[in-house]
Amino acid sequence: MEPLKKVKFIAVHHSQRKIDSVKRIKNLHIKIRGWEDIGYHYLIDKKGKIYFGRSEKFIGAHVFGYNKNSIGICLIGNFDEEKPTKKQIQTLIKFLKEKVRKFKIPIKNILGHREFLNVTKTCPGKFIDMEKIRRMLM
Ligand SMILES: [Zn+2]
Repeated sequence: MEPLKKVKFIAVHHSQRKIDSVKRIKNLHIKIRGWEDIGYHYLIDKKGKIYFGRSEKFIGAHVFGYNKNSIGICLIGNFDEEKPTKKQIQTLIKFLKEKVRKFKIPIKNILGHREFLNVTKTCPGKFIDMEKIRRMLM
């Protein structure tokens, strides 16, 4: 895997399935897609527990054109169909605050997958308000 040299963006994703698990996502990325490791750097389940995916020392596979300078975090669930849990959002905010400090990333560079250039997906889902999340980081 290639080293991740400079983190300029954080991309927020959802797993797109209502019932999902870290194990299933890992299985999909590694066994089915044939990647060396899971595409996301972190995952947050519905209980607000954070899981490590690919080491943030390495380039992930989660957002076209921006993998080289971003970290990917995936919230488990389908947020086009349901709301994230309060605990998920709490953990996400705490996580983002830490990374903003660590990598000195401007808050405007914390983006939902759909906010990156040329993305036609709804990811991380219509129930995730990225403006609100960025405001919570200020
Ligand atoms: Zn996504």
